[in-house]
Amino acid sequence: MSVRDLTILGCSSQQPTRFRNHGAYLFRWNDEGLLFDPGEGTQRQFIFANVTPTVVTRIFISHFHGDHCLGLGSFLMRLNLDKVTHPIHCYYPASGKKYFDRLRYGTIYHETIHVVEHPVSQAGLVEDDGKFRIEATFLEHGVDNIGWRVTEPSQRKFDQQALNARGIRGLLVRELIEKGEINIQGERITLDDVSWIRQGDSIAVVIDTRYCQNAIDIAKDAKIMLCESTYLEEHRDLAYDHYHLTAKQAGTIAKQANVQQLILTHFSARYQNIEDFENEARTVFSNVHAADDFKTFPFHK
Ligand SMILES: [Zn+2]
Ligand SMILES: [Zn+2]
Repeated sequence: MSVRDLTILGCSSQQPTRFRNHGAYLFRWNDEGLLFDPGEGTQRQFIFANVTPTVVTRIFISHFHGDHCLGLGSFLMRLNLDKVTHPIHCYYPASGKKYFDRLRYGTIYHETIHVVEHPVSQAGLVEDDGKFRIEATFLEHGVDNIGWRVTEPSQRKFDQQALNARGIRGLLVRELIEKGEINIQGERITLDDVSWIRQGDSIAVVIDTRYCQNAIDIAKDAKIMLCESTYLEEHRDLAYDHYHLTAKQAGTIAKQANVQQLILTHFSARYQNIEDFENEARTVFSNVHAADDFKTFPFHK
């Protein structure tokens, strides 16, 4: 799978509406599917989105409020039904282990899939398995709640013109990779002479928090940041009281973190028009889009 995109499977907050399902967000990236916060109804949202659930390889639960995890049990059971053979890695705040277990074993079924649990109890590096580097930070939401950063490995890219100019091809390229340098007609050529490092991209997911420095730090220079904006500025006090962000605050976080693209989500049911969120955030950060159920956002290399 060479596709790199973010599919919005739902973008409501606590209370779904006729047009917005509980949240759930799928990043398809480097042959994997990273599913964040599967709210109620996630399994069916995959069908509407025309995406097979079996693409999912990792599931992230930011926290155990219902709108972020009620779809976990049915989704795991669906993967079980589909007889997926790859491991399903699940990352979640360690203090919510009992909720994870209840969701995972909420009904009768014979579990055959291989679920690998990663309870996270401290900020920092969670895992680096060579495919992705996963980092966590704790946000301000009144309960243990994790903001995520996922980074793909950096890759060495060859400059074909530089290789051609020196007559380096085939086995010589392999030798250059293995030894770091080769000699051609008395000339020493190093890897760096004919190649460069492409830094891996990062994505950040910050859902359910007050404005805080950790949200900025975890998203630093990310290619794409998915961020909650439950309220508009007119309800800034409500946002603070309920440990949430306004669209403008989300835009400010994106600006301070210097992200490339901001996607807003987790909209309160009190608002009809989600364009208002986009417009408000755009006053501080220009490359912003509001999520909507079944919208997809490519993030090209
Ligand atoms: Zn929520
Ligand atoms: Zn919450």
